Order: sequence, then C-alpha cells, then structure tokens
Amino acid sequence: MRALVKAERAPGLTMMDVPVPEVGPNDVLIRIHKSAICGTDMHIWNWDAWSQKTIPVPMHVGHEYVGVIERVGSAVTGYKGGERVTGEGHIVCGHCRNCRAGKRHLCPNTLGVGVNRPGSFAEYLSLPAVNVFPVPDSIPDDVVSIFDPYGNAAHTALSFEMVGEDVLITGAGPIGIMGAAICKKAGARNVVITDVNDYRLDLALKLGATRAVNVARQDLKTVMEELGMTEGFDIGLEMSGNVAAFRSMLDSMVNGGRIALLGLLGEDVAIDWGKVIFKGLFLKGIYGREMFETWYKMTTMIQSGLDISAVITHRFPIEEFRKGFEVMNSGNSGKVVLDWGVK
Ligand code: NAD
Ligand code: ZN
Repeated sequence: MRALVKAERAPGLTMMDVPVPEVGPNDVLIRIHKSAICGTDMHIWNWDAWSQKTIPVPMHVGHEYVGVIERVGSAVTGYKGGERVTGEGHIVCGHCRNCRAGKRHLCPNTLGVGVNRPGSFAEYLSLPAVNVFPVPDSIPDDVVSIFDPYGNAAHTALSFEMVGEDVLITGAGPIGIMGAAICKKAGARNVVITDVNDYRLDLALKLGATRAVNVARQDLKTVMEELGMTEGFDIGLEMSGNVAAFRSMLDSMVNGGRIALLGLLGEDVAIDWGKVIFKGLFLKGIYGREMFETWYKMTTMIQSGLDISAVITHRFPIEEFRKGFEVMNSGNSGKVVLDWGVK
C-alpha cells in the first residue's frame, strides 16, 4: 500500500510502498479515505528536536482521518465491514489504575498512532477495535477527518462550566479556533482569542469568537475595557504553547479563575507563580480527549448545530501532499485535508 513515510532522519515525508499492516484478533483494518494534517505532523515534517528523539525511522506517520472498515479481527464484536469510522489515536494499556477506573485519557502507558506506532497517512490503518469511533452519516467526511483535534478543543473547552463566562483563548491555531466555536456553543458571554497571525484571527471570527486580538499590535486590556469587562477573564484556554501568551493570560484572569493548558509549553518555561498563588487560580493540564465522553459530546454538539467546517481551508489530493504541508508551514491556513481518492 502507499504511505507517507519518515524514510530518513531529515525534514519531509516520502510517498512509498509499505506492507499492509497486520490485523490482530482484536483489531480492525480501516481503509483511509481522507487524512488531515496535524500540528504534530508539522513537527515531524520539519524534523524538530522533539521528533528526532520520538519518531522511529523508517515509519509512516499521521493520525487524523476518516475511513471505512475493510475487515475486523477474529475476536472483534460490534463492528463490521463497510462502517464509516475515525479513531482515538491514543492506545492505552487497559491495566493501570486510571484505565480500570474508566479514565483512559490519564493512562501513563499511552502510545500514539503515527507517533510511537505506524500511522494513518496510508491506504490502510490497523487499529484496536476499542479505539474505533463510528460517526453518524449526517456529519460530512471532511469534518470527521478532523475529529481528533476537534476533540482536543472540546476536551479543553468543556473542562469548565461555560454559561455566561468571559473566556480568553491564547492561540488561534486550528484547535484554538474550534475552541472558540465550542465556548460560544456552550454558552460563554465573551470569547476573546489572541494570536499574532491575522489570517487565523479572521478565521476565528468566522467561527464565532467575540473579538480576535493581534497581540503584536493590540492591547488585551483595551479590548477588555471595550467589552465592559471589569475584573478579568473567568476562564482561560491556553492553546498556543507560547510562554508570552500564557503570561498575559495569568495577568488577565479574575481571582479564582480557571485555566486549561493544552499548548505544549517547554520544560524550562518560567512564570510568575505569585500570580497563580495570590489570585487563587486553578490550572488543569489537558492531554488528548476523554475516552469516549469527549467523542460523544463532539458528535452531539455537531448534531445540535455546531458548525466547525470553516476551519478546513485547504483540500488536496494525496499526491499533492507537499502543497498541504507547505501551506500549513506558511501559517496561512486552518486545517488541511488530503484525499486518498477512494471511490
Ligand atoms: P498551532 O501551532 O497551529 O497554533 C498555535 C497558534 O499560537 C499559532 O497560530 C501561533 O501563531 C499562535 N501564537 C504564537 N505566539 C502567540 C502569542 N504570543 N499569543 C497568542 N498566540 C500565539 O497549534 P494547534 O494545532 O492549534 O495546537 C495548539 C497547541 O496545542 C500547540 O501547542 C500543540 O502542540 C498543542 N497540542 C496539545 C495537545 C495535547 O493533547 N495536550 C494535542 C494537540 C495539540
Ligand atoms: Zn492504562
């Protein structure tokens, strides 16, 4: 089968033939129809320090997709060939305390599809059946292909009661943009999103953000005054991984405010802990999606009117994958979807 392989320890990916993966008794084989490019795939494409110490070479990567079940392993029940699915990319151990308590997103033994094991930038993916997520026909293929990052946004945004609250989202990447749409859907009063990229800030406004602030030239405090906010943001969603953004969030929170941290801040990042302590802030780290409560809410929010489709800004046939990675690298894109051309 064809797959996008990290073939050598260098930037880029190569389209090449690899064996169709084996299907164990508890696995399903998924024929991939569409793949989306994740920020993680960009790290792998660019071969940054994290990828160099994490990604086995050679291996095909990718973990955002929609496909159709081709066949199921001998012990699989509840799924059959022909079902349209996507999947949870975190493969958990099933044996640890958290797994056994049904808190699988907190498993310490998680392995990532397309990171620690072969991925879904391929004609076929073999996945444990417990990770499969079937999606109702009413949700279009393109939207299903971005369920994984939509799930990161949903897990983060649904961490706290939203009704009537003022929310600050730092980082208008695809996940921050979808986060803004979810916060509005969940009842927030103001959703202010920040970035340094006007293309992405415009997209965030299209998906429902109240105000989009370019912090390179606009002051967040002024925007808060314009919105009639007197005490600070009730909820912060850090979705940039940028320490300056996180520091401005700490400055702008109300006392007792709640912050969910999704963006990957470096290990040596320093903040003024006094702001956390004396403001009595509550910090929550977010990894992945809750299995499968987040997935359930993702589906039902769309069925009840949430429209995230505009975050997909570019589509290419898989043969033109390079164009997809280039436009993601330029920053002038939302999500990019690649089509495997399956009829
Ligand atoms: P992204 O890199 O596309 O978006 C980050 C955005 O932050 C960019 O648009 C960038 O311009 C913006 N930014 C940079 N400096 C800023 C500043 N000073 N203020 C405000 N914004 C600034 O990433 P994404 O795919 O949307 O993901 C968001 C973050 O979440 C990334 O850090 C990613 O690594 C992380 N992530 C975490 C998990 C998890 O499970 N914890 C899962 C997926 C992604
Ligand atoms: Zn576990």
